[in-house]
Amino acid sequence: MKSLVKAELDELVAGLHRVSRNLWWTWDQEAQEIFGELSPRGWQNLYHNAVAILHEVSDYELRVRLQDGVLADRVRRVVASFEAYLNEAPTWGDEHAPTLMEHPVAYFSAEFGFHETLPIAAGGLGILAGDHAKSASDLDIGFVGISLFYREGYFQQTVDANNWQTEFYDRLNPANLPVEPVLDMHGQPLICEVDIALSKVRFKAWRANVGRVPVYLLDADLPENEQAHRDLTLHVYGGDSNTRIMQEMLLGIGGVKLLRALDVQPSVFHMNEGHAAFLTLELMREKLEHGTTVADALARTKAECVFTTHTPVEAGHDRFSAELLDFAMHKFRAQLRVPFEDLVALGRVNPKNPKEPFCMTVLALKLSRSANAVSELHGQVSREMWQCLYPGRSVAEVPIGHITNGVHTLGWLKGPVRKFWRRKLSDEAAQHAATKGLEQDAAFWQLKAKSNWKTLLNRPEFWENVDGKETAFWQLKSKTTWKTFLNTREFWENLADPEFISDEEIWALRYQLRRELLEFTRRRLLLQHQRLAHGDFIRFDSLLNNDALTIGFARRFATYKRAPLIFQQFESIVRLAHDQKRPVQFVFAGKAHPRDEAGKRFIQQIIHLSKYSGLQGHLVFIENYDVHIARTMVSGCDVWLNNPRRPLEASGTSGMKAAANGCLNFSILDGWWREAYDGQNGFAIGADAHVKDVEEQDRIDSENLFRTLTEEIIPCFYRRDELGVPREWIAKIRHAFVTIVPQFSTGRMVQEYTEKYYVPE
Ligand SMILES: *Cc1c(COP(=O)(O)O)cnc(C)c1O
Repeated sequence: MKSLVKAELDELVAGLHRVSRNLWWTWDQEAQEIFGELSPRGWQNLYHNAVAILHEVSDYELRVRLQDGVLADRVRRVVASFEAYLNEAPTWGDEHAPTLMEHPVAYFSAEFGFHETLPIAAGGLGILAGDHAKSASDLDIGFVGISLFYREGYFQQTVDANNWQTEFYDRLNPANLPVEPVLDMHGQPLICEVDIALSKVRFKAWRANVGRVPVYLLDADLPENEQAHRDLTLHVYGGDSNTRIMQEMLLGIGGVKLLRALDVQPSVFHMNEGHAAFLTLELMREKLEHGTTVADALARTKAECVFTTHTPVEAGHDRFSAELLDFAMHKFRAQLRVPFEDLVALGRVNPKNPKEPFCMTVLALKLSRSANAVSELHGQVSREMWQCLYPGRSVAEVPIGHITNGVHTLGWLKGPVRKFWRRKLSDEAAQHAATKGLEQDAAFWQLKAKSNWKTLLNRPEFWENVDGKETAFWQLKSKTTWKTFLNTREFWENLADPEFISDEEIWALRYQLRRELLEFTRRRLLLQHQRLAHGDFIRFDSLLNNDALTIGFARRFATYKRAPLIFQQFESIVRLAHDQKRPVQFVFAGKAHPRDEAGKRFIQQIIHLSKYSGLQGHLVFIENYDVHIARTMVSGCDVWLNNPRRPLEASGTSGMKAAANGCLNFSILDGWWREAYDGQNGFAIGADAHVKDVEEQDRIDSENLFRTLTEEIIPCFYRRDELGVPREWIAKIRHAFVTIVPQFSTGRMVQEYTEKYYVPE
């Protein structure tokens, strides 16, 4: 094979660096495989960090390695596919939201969860924001994200000798992250400032490239700021309400200032939860500065803003005392030129009540042109909750709608699942078509496997196919790459066809995924145990069973999510775990908020059971829940358990990730699952109703949970035919693909936001 000349090498190396600096690679399997192979151990130890890998592997080594023609070809293909992604045209956004191209949506969120290497999310809210940005990129709508660059991120969890959660922080190194400094015209860091309390707080910004869209992360860690202000961007939701209000001023007011400094003029400001609501005050200030009335500034600001509320839990709504607001806004208020009474009133249900604290959700509701909750039931609950703000209107008339959450499907598929679909959709799809006697189709599929849709447009085979059988399917297929296609029901209907994928193949994939989870879990437990180095002895070789029905539970340990609920029927659960023929086992993970004692007690209780009870070896708790653990668990478990106290789960998203990987949901009919469950695509706990009394609810739910588990789930999972395949179980997996994956995706969700809220007709 001919060796590469210098110019070609330069191009490949530069291309690989460009790819590493864009989070696109986090949802591209081929790119990940290349980074992983460059340094397999580094990939594991650096926690799947493409930027760090390119520091670990020297430039010299990289150039030597690229003399391997096969690797060079693969790199060339990945870089080309990245460029094609960035330049694809026309896009959904071109067609459906052309006005956003020049005047984008500015999406403000206190947290963004993109990947395990950038841990600046505390939970589902941030993960949703990250998935929103990824799908905004896929669809190509005009979009910029705004958040904070927390230099120590969200806390890392360990568990001490008393099984008590303890928190520690690692400093992030921007040089090893897919972010770049935002520079001014002189090539120096762009500096903006916000008035907070009595000071001018200066900040710079980092730009995370999420495919085609930027997300700007504000960073107050500048030497000229006093320490307390530098620390505003230290931890996600760090400190007391003092820190909190100042963080939110930085986010809301600072975010608008940064956009102006970058000359980005959004047509709509989207507040993802109330944390960002101070942006409305800065928008008002701008208008008042140009000499208008408060009423006019308010009306025009309202016309620019939309708001998504995310929780029916009281403590989830930020509230600040009027004194604190007065203090934190001391300087800013003078510029705003709104009397303090009027300012506080914007955050009060009853403006005249001097005792009522200032609520960020109230501010956001009063200053947005539309507001939405994140599932149908949550919409209902939110309308009841905020009816007080709309005197004279019935609950149904309260102007809060709903758009149910989704997930960025491709990003949540585990590697083997992506590879599975890739294989099915290239060579095997061609064979499939050939055996069905569709020779034309076979040629088409082969072509499709080799090229993207743009080249296809010039091929006669393509047009012949558009005319052919299964027209709707082919038309869709012809318009998009398989990745965008993931959001369509037709796609999943075709894939879930038993003639295309056999039960055996799905079952083999499920086994592979379970094994990956269990091996990962054993390794993690070994590390957890080593670190503790106390006397307890767990036999790692006998920990968990590769054939057992594996039930997963992982999420924030907020008490309303009731992590230990399943262990209420303790004796019976132990019996199920020890059943020789039909064993059940449990994998748990999750963090409690650092100040949530009750949540920490839940963690303690579960770890205690895993170490000292009859569940030893059948129950494990993996420390330090994050995106990587989430992806491994939602794919490797057979059943995904969710038992929140209804109706407190606004939506939930982890179950959507599970469905996409062939793991079946087992959940209370709350949030998204209430909309998704159809009797066949997973399992329900109880009915579409709940009682008010909390203890009564816990008792009923626990009973229903146990009944569904023993009467439906275990028998179905273990009902095998002579080949050992659980046909009914697999039928459910197929049905879940079709009914859940396309619908509960951020692809669908961002389209809905765009059409209903960003560019309404
Ligand atoms: C998906 C996800 C969540 C949200 O899970 P829910 O079940 O919706 O609460 C939280 N944390 C991480 C790391 C996730 O990936």
